[in-house]
Amino acid sequence: MPVELVFDQTIGHIFVSRVAGNVINSEIIGSLEYGAAVLGIKVLLVMGHSNCGAVSAAIAKKSVPGQIASLYPHLQAAVEAGGGDVTASIKKNAQIQASLLSETSTVLRPLVREGRLKIEAAYYDVGTGQVTLL
Ligand SMILES: [Zn+2]
Repeated sequence: MPVELVFDQTIGHIFVSRVAGNVINSEIIGSLEYGAAVLGIKVLLVMGHSNCGAVSAAIAKKSVPGQIASLYPHLQAAVEAGGGDVTASIKKNAQIQASLLSETSTVLRPLVREGRLKIEAAYYDVGTGQVTLL
């Protein structure tokens, strides 16, 4: 479901950067820095979702085609923290990636420190439509 619909918003009101497994990389950080520094976004929400295939595959260490497995190392800390539980790993991953965002970005970190930006982790239950802040 489009994120705009999850939050009852129309196109253009949410700056969406989608990436499998919520992994933070240079391109995603760059997009979010643009959103925060240029567009003035006040909240970044790193939102994992129920039954996430990327996290499930990383837990199972599934053999996958192409470069899909390149996501696995980014998910490893959450997989270990989740102890084999998919939902726990998804939630932990959103928290880890949200922390990485605020710790690694030289643009986002000062905005957070000055209280001009919030970076939060959340979990979206696809079945119920409920979003829970973590
Ligand atoms: Zn997913």
